[in-house]
Amino acid sequence: MSRAVLVDLTRCIGCRSCQVACKSWNDNPAEQTKCLGAYDNPPSFSADTWTVVQFNEVEQADRLQWVFAKRQCMHCEHPGCVAVCTVGALTKTPEGPVVYEASRCIGCRYCQYGCPFGVPSFEWDKPLGLIRKCTFCVDRAEEGYETACVKACPTDALTMGTRHEMISEAHRRINARPHKYHGHIYGEKEAGGTSWLYISPVPFEELGFPMLDGEPMDYASSVIMNATPVTLAAAVGVLSGLYWLTKKKSQAAEEEG
Ligand code: SF4
Ligand code: SF4
Ligand code: SF4
Repeated sequence: MSRAVLVDLTRCIGCRSCQVACKSWNDNPAEQTKCLGAYDNPPSFSADTWTVVQFNEVEQADRLQWVFAKRQCMHCEHPGCVAVCTVGALTKTPEGPVVYEASRCIGCRYCQYGCPFGVPSFEWDKPLGLIRKCTFCVDRAEEGYETACVKACPTDALTMGTRHEMISEAHRRINARPHKYHGHIYGEKEAGGTSWLYISPVPFEELGFPMLDGEPMDYASSVIMNATPVTLAAAVGVLSGLYWLTKKKSQAAEEEG
C-alpha cells in the first residue's frame, strides 16, 4: 500500500520543527541564516537541507496574512527524476518513496532537469559529489516509525497514511469547512499524482507551487531525453565516464589505505 503525507497549510505555524527534525535525523548540518528580507531560512533545498518552510504573505478576506508551506521531495507517482536517470540510481518503490542509490550514481545530474519541483541537490563542494534529497525517511519506515518531520510537527499539520486515506481525509476536511479551504488538493492529479498532498486556505499559485497538469512527469521527461541533442548526450556520457573512473580510483585508494 503506497503511503503518503497530507500537509494542511491551515494548520502550519511556520515553526520549522519539521526542518530541525529532518536535519537531526539525517545528520545534516545547519546552514547560514539569511536576514535580507527573505523569510525562508534556509531559502531553498540544498545538499544539507532537504525540507524548507516557505513564508508567504498573501491577501485573504481583504487583509494580509501568513501562509506557511513545508516543501520537500513530492515522491511523485510517476517521477521525472527516475525517468531521466540512465543508470537506475533513482527508483520509485511500491510503498511510495522515491529512493536514491548512491553507488549507482554517475554524477550526470540529469535528475535535476527531470524534476519539476527543483528538488534534487548536488554536493558541489565535493570532488565526487552525490545527489541529495528527502528520503521519505525509509530507514524509519523499516522500523515501523513515521517520518521524523511528521513526528515533530506540533500542530498536526502533517498527517501520514496510505495515499487513498490521505486523499479521503483531504476531501473530508474541505467538505466539512469549505470556507476555510481553497477546494483543491495539490498532488492528487499534478504531474500524474504525488505522495505528498497539500490543502491550503489560498490558491496554490499564490504560494509559488508549480502549476502542472495531470500529465505524468515520467512521460514528459522521457520526451525531453529523446529530444536531447546527441552531442550533449555524448558530452554527458564522457563526463559521467570520468566521474565513474575517478570514483572507482578513489574507492580503490580508500580500500588500500
Ligand atoms: S521528480 Fe522531483 S519531486 Fe518528484 S520524486 Fe523526483 S525528485 Fe522528488
Ligand atoms: S520525510 Fe524524512 S527526509 Fe523527508 S523531509 Fe521529512 S524528515 Fe526529512
Ligand atoms: S513542524 Fe508543522 S507547524 Fe511547524 S513548520 Fe513544520 S509543518 Fe509547519
